[in-house]
Amino acid sequence: MRADFPILRTLAHGKPLVYLDNGATTQKPQIVIDATDTYYSRENSNIHRGVYELSQLATTLYEESRIKIQKFINAAESREVIYTKGTTDSINLVASSLGRSTLKPGDEVLISHMEHHSNIVPWQLICEQTGAMLKVIPINEAGELIFEEFEKLLSPRTKIVSVVHVSNSLGTINPVKQIIDLAHKQGAVVLIDGAQWVAHGPTDVQALDCDFYAFSGHKIFGPTGIGILYGKAKLLDAMPPYQGGGDMISNVTFEKTTYNDLPYKFEAGTPNIAGGIVLGTAIDYVSNIGLEKIAAYEAELLAYAQARLAEIPGVRLIGTAKKKASVMSFITSGVHPHDLGVLLDLEGIAVRTGHHCCQPVMDRFHIPATARASMAAYNTRDDIDRFLAAVRKVTASYTPRPAQSAAPSSSNGKILFPPAVAESPEAAAQELLDNFDMLGDWQTRYQYLIEMGGKLPPMPKELKTDTTRVHGCQSVVHLYSQRDPKDKQVFNFIADSDADIVRGLIAILERLYAGQKADAVAKFDVETFFKEIGLDQHLSGGRRNGLSSMVSRIRTEAAEKV
Ligand code: PLP
Repeated sequence: MRADFPILRTLAHGKPLVYLDNGATTQKPQIVIDATDTYYSRENSNIHRGVYELSQLATTLYEESRIKIQKFINAAESREVIYTKGTTDSINLVASSLGRSTLKPGDEVLISHMEHHSNIVPWQLICEQTGAMLKVIPINEAGELIFEEFEKLLSPRTKIVSVVHVSNSLGTINPVKQIIDLAHKQGAVVLIDGAQWVAHGPTDVQALDCDFYAFSGHKIFGPTGIGILYGKAKLLDAMPPYQGGGDMISNVTFEKTTYNDLPYKFEAGTPNIAGGIVLGTAIDYVSNIGLEKIAAYEAELLAYAQARLAEIPGVRLIGTAKKKASVMSFITSGVHPHDLGVLLDLEGIAVRTGHHCCQPVMDRFHIPATARASMAAYNTRDDIDRFLAAVRKVTASYTPRPAQSAAPSSSNGKILFPPAVAESPEAAAQELLDNFDMLGDWQTRYQYLIEMGGKLPPMPKELKTDTTRVHGCQSVVHLYSQRDPKDKQVFNFIADSDADIVRGLIAILERLYAGQKADAVAKFDVETFFKEIGLDQHLSGGRRNGLSSMVSRIRTEAAEKV
């Protein structure tokens, strides 16, 4: 299987890529890449509209793909398979259409504590609009749903139950069949978020008897921007359209519009035609390998990986459910997950770090983030061994920065602001550019950044408040500023974060701005500096946004505080 994925033969930081971020998205086999090429080279046209041959070809391929997907999930009819943009879109469709048209004050929607934000926020929005109440099934320390609590929360008021099949942040496989059966006894409708399941085991929506099932193409070796909502025909028939536009209508006059039949009623506008067709190719690909086989292989790989990861000193697994898919979320005692992610990347290993769009899960475990290695069927023991060796190396060699009390940037209640390092931000920027030039490659530069971050004095705890919190960063960032009492033109600030890589960026910002005149802060062209130093290119999008949020906070405070 591995040989089918060209990207797995590439290098990351000069080392063979070990891709362990399959929970976020899977890589694509050559057959899927070729199918995309073939579609745009030979089959492209709009569907359902043209009388000419090419349009009929594209329409046939698109509809044939729907039938493949129907068979893949064992839906009773192909009209129960609706193309969407992905899991998020599928859940929003049900929440908006079914939720808005049926929920009323006093009704309840039940989700679990381990949901992805995409299975929380759409329901919150609909509950706010309809007066229904959102209830949450708690989870235990292992990250398993507490079934007795679920039973207690269920009542005739429960109208919709929407739960995840496999948790993306914990790996827990939920007992969805039992959940569906119990919810049905109370007359509730059940949606299953299958984003993390479909590529890892067989799906049979009729055996499950779920009312809706949602998944994304890109998590099952297919393209991004395409996903599926399965829904029972009798429910979908009764639901109003989610969006209006071309293709979803039967007849339009200014007085009244009648709607098209299923599934088109829910497919307004020109869809992702290539995505739909190529998803069919991806489905063929996994079906030929066999989902049973994939499930057995991944279970064995997880058992191998998880036992060895847990042996590494300082590692704590988050999510230790008895039934787990191939996801390992973990924290280490010394290294912040974001720093771990950057250092593993330097070893050629791609893992995800952060809250994984599951902030309530992080809150439940009282942690800001985890590192997550999520495996797919093409991962091997060799990948796992390299990952484990890299985690060992990073955790063993990493010197944790001093505890909060060791070197605070305050003394006797007085805050010790860093002084200016050069006569202007421009001069400080030149010094930084020279330093970075000497460091050479980005591997060394990252290490330098993390070291700088490690040396940044911690911010006094009492200054870490909601007011000093900088929003828009992946990590927790606080920034406190003041004009110098001796010279009101001078802008002083300190900042801090829980991740050393972000502290490294703060150290750069301090060199540029701390102790400088407020008007010089405003004038300095930091964007050009970020380009020259290469930060805009080498930071991840999320971290670049975080850096921009810190800069705009510095500029605002420099302009405002007098
Ligand atoms: N649900 C779960 C459990 C997920 O893991 C994800 C994506 O990570 C989603 C929903 C959202 O999927 P998408 O971004 O493809 O819509």
